[in-house]
Amino acid sequence: MQKFEFQAETKQLLDLMIHSIYSNKEIFLRELISNSSDALDKLRFESLTNDKLKDLAVDLHIRIDVDSKKRTLSVIDNGIGMSRQEVIDYVGTIARSGSKEFLRLLSEKKDRVISPELIGQFGVGLYASFMVADKITIVTRKAGENTATFWESTGDGTYSLDETTRDSAGTTITLHLKPEDTEDELHDYTREWKIREIVRKYSDYVQYPIKMKIERSEIERDKDGKPKEGAKEKTVVTDETLNSIKAIWTRPEDDVSDDEYKEFYKHISHDWNDPLTRIVFKAEGLHEFRGLLFIPSKAPMDMYVREGEQGIHLYIRRIFIMNDCKELIPEYLRFLRGVVDSEDLSLNISREILQKNRQIQVIRQKVIAKVLEKLEDIKSNDKETYLKFWNEFGQILKEGIFHDAKNREKLLDLTMMYSTQSDSSLTTFREYISRMQAGQDTIYYMSGKSRQAIENSPHLEAFKDKGYEVLLFTHPVDELWVQSVFEFDKMPLKSIGKGTIDLGTEEEKKQAQEKRKETEKDFRTLLDSLRASLQDNIKEVRLSSRLTSSPVCLVGEQSDLTPQMEEMLRAMGQDIPKTKRILEVNPDHPIIVQMQKRFSENKKDPVLNDYAELLYGLALLAEGSQPPDQGKFSKTIADVMARALS
Ligand code: ADP
Ligand code: MG
Repeated sequence: MQKFEFQAETKQLLDLMIHSIYSNKEIFLRELISNSSDALDKLRFESLTNDKLKDLAVDLHIRIDVDSKKRTLSVIDNGIGMSRQEVIDYVGTIARSGSKEFLRLLSEKKDRVISPELIGQFGVGLYASFMVADKITIVTRKAGENTATFWESTGDGTYSLDETTRDSAGTTITLHLKPEDTEDELHDYTREWKIREIVRKYSDYVQYPIKMKIERSEIERDKDGKPKEGAKEKTVVTDETLNSIKAIWTRPEDDVSDDEYKEFYKHISHDWNDPLTRIVFKAEGLHEFRGLLFIPSKAPMDMYVREGEQGIHLYIRRIFIMNDCKELIPEYLRFLRGVVDSEDLSLNISREILQKNRQIQVIRQKVIAKVLEKLEDIKSNDKETYLKFWNEFGQILKEGIFHDAKNREKLLDLTMMYSTQSDSSLTTFREYISRMQAGQDTIYYMSGKSRQAIENSPHLEAFKDKGYEVLLFTHPVDELWVQSVFEFDKMPLKSIGKGTIDLGTEEEKKQAQEKRKETEKDFRTLLDSLRASLQDNIKEVRLSSRLTSSPVCLVGEQSDLTPQMEEMLRAMGQDIPKTKRILEVNPDHPIIVQMQKRFSENKKDPVLNDYAELLYGLALLAEGSQPPDQGKFSKTIADVMARALS
């Protein structure tokens, strides 16, 4: 027997599991059954492509075995099993990237009460058994291997490993139960009715029989049902299946209770929280299939990086084929959990074939349509739930605007965003349009690093002045999708940081343009020399109609990358040439007025170079960026200040 230390984090987690107060201890059994069910799924899936495992993937089931005298409870399966190394990797370590975060949250809690929500964010699976057991042993044999591994731990920070034997592949997990203490939810978990109750409650829909040997004392009876004369009581053992197995998604929605759906969700998603909502559908016609999908109530910690194992499970005629079938949903719906069950696909479908399969493509389109329909429905009828959804998964859903041109309009309709109209509440494109000013014919937005940076930027001045609402995009994903959208509901969408902007009625716009042309004649020489002085960074200097109180701002051409986008692409390792920007100047600002005056007197005025540099720096600062050479910038300010006083 070899002794091992648990990895530090696992140790800490175990310690917390054992000593924390969690009020729902019975879920340990659900976790064990769920692991067994996963192991059976895996064996079934592997056996589709590995002939050596074919003979093993028969009579797949889970067995619960109890010994009330020894106070042990075992969960036994004939699934995929684990190799010695897998036991070390999966049972001795917590691989989840969220576990560090979990421990940090827990250690901040003084009362050590673990709420289901807290646990739910992370899930601690197998370790939940230490809430009810003071010793756990595992005997497991990997399908296709000959030797088995014995594992044992009392949860004290170490575990022992040994080689052993097991008749066939699979896993036996035995809990040595803690003494009964109903105050502390430590029931007698060896009692038949207790086990029945827990299995019914949490694991009824598990797709494999959960069997248990049931002992009953019987007495021989005569034809009328009366005990026979002199007959003695006999113990009769029957093998019973505790769960009903019937696939929950084949039952009419009205026949299934909310609780049943919730427990099913927890089973397939490994989430401990209730789902936010469910989507049940059935497609008939050319391809027949059913779907039971859930939107979780919370995004997992690692939503953005995780190569999930959950996702959508594919079944074919009630037979589990694989978990996390990525072909069934696009990336931007990767938060969905659930089941799709096809009537028509061939059973020996493999992951490779899936990608090219036309039926799968049809199912995928249908799934997308159903999900977007449901989201639209929640958005219109249950704003509160929709906002919860949006908070958790909105940034992910928005990826679809960019990637799924076919559903772009629907996705835009589902998009919630901030605008200058309110500090706190989100709005939609339609709501924005309904508030547009008379004469306004464009949806305006501005993207930037943060709401504050955008609100302080000079670009907004004319809009504030006119009372025009501007949508504020601050998430990196906004930079992506917004490039693929030119209009919503036939209304053009325009960045206020790009191109020229004139606000007001057609008449007002025309007047503004003419006036600008006129003024520009007077300013031409100044604008040209500013450009000459700033030519390394600026491609054009022109008069602005965006500004009311600031002297300058930087804008791009309609097709230019925004500075944020450039930054993002560079961070992703792309070699992006620097886009020169346009400097817009405010001809009514005192600085510009004075410069124009001085310049018309002396074209070679040396002050102009300093001012050009300072104006460019100011424009950068105003949008939350830095002047390219900060040392030089501050020195020039000091020089100009000194000169102003002398
Ligand atoms: P999760 O199920 O969420 O991965 P658990 O703590 O419940 O986390 O289980 C940890 C890992 O241990 C599983 O992912 C699996 O690899 C392995 N495992 C647990 N129980 C079994 C079992 N009955 N058969 C095979 N592997 C198992
Ligand atoms: Mg588990």
